Amino acid sequence: AQAPVPANIQAAVDAAFAKYKGLKEGKNADYIPALAKVDPNLFGIAVVTADGKVYSAGDLKTEVSIQSISKVFTMAQVIQEQGMDSIAKRIGVDATGARFNSIIAIEGVRTVVGTGAPEMNPLVNPGAISATSMVTGASKDDVWNKIIGIHNDFAGRSLTVLQDVYKSEADTNQRNQAIGALMFAYGYIKTDWQQAVDLYTKQCSIGVNAKDLATMAATLAFGGKNPVTNKQVMDPAKVPGVLAVMATAGLYDDSGKWLYRTGLPGKSGVGGGLIAVSPGKFGIAVVSPPLDDAGNSVRAQNAIADISNALHGNPLSSP
Ligand code: GLU
Repeated sequence: AQAPVPANIQAAVDAAFAKYKGLKEGKNADYIPALAKVDPNLFGIAVVTADGKVYSAGDLKTEVSIQSISKVFTMAQVIQEQGMDSIAKRIGVDATGARFNSIIAIEGVRTVVGTGAPEMNPLVNPGAISATSMVTGASKDDVWNKIIGIHNDFAGRSLTVLQDVYKSEADTNQRNQAIGALMFAYGYIKTDWQQAVDLYTKQCSIGVNAKDLATMAATLAFGGKNPVTNKQVMDPAKVPGVLAVMATAGLYDDSGKWLYRTGLPGKSGVGGGLIAVSPGKFGIAVVSPPLDDAGNSVRAQNAIADISNALHGNPLSSP
């Protein structure tokens, strides 16, 4: 892959920031009450390249909750520990065709379980809660330390949980508790399902800024080696599996539209973060809370699409 030229990267980032700063489309998620209170004007863009350089515009400091983007890194932890087949066999790597927190998807899986072809993946809630349950550890703290540990390694610093978000979601996550119970009943979760739902809720409340997210994306872009800290955080041979699931299911029901538009494996979260990976070229992330109807940040999708286009980031197009 040909590395993008630094001056062009900064120019592309600045242009996207100026173009979308005033865009007022979309609305903060509010089904988790704490998310409705986040400033909708928050807007930060970061690009991280192979040499660990960070190109940015806007707010790089303010943290939002990582939400569903954490599903990528917990999946990475399970694949790293237990191999590519672990996720593919227990959870699956196919699109569900249903909303991210659908219970219909679980019932659908149940009907094909006998065929050995589960139609689910670790980026929708049932699969994500199962992935969290697969992280091994002697105690709940042990499991948590591994989950936060892999997030820290990808981000290159010690992250912390946003307690107000964690509490807000823990008080209102009855639907995810029902999903956890169902997944246990059907044998997809083999450990304590209540512990899995709680740790899943906690991982969704990890605080990240645009630079953290871009560094996490860049670590995936460069074969599992964090280009800022130079730590190899994941086996390079396992990274393409993570990216494949992101390409299939990273942007909820608009995952196909996103792949068609950009070619980039990505993942969004209802906190307003969006990461995208141009393998061998860059990791990019935007934080901006207002979401479209599919649940993806409006400014983030536009800014990332423009910047990647300017930098020839689409891995599906020939050089
Ligand atoms: N914690 C959120 C939930 O389970 C994550 C949703 C998301 O970002 O897609 O509802």
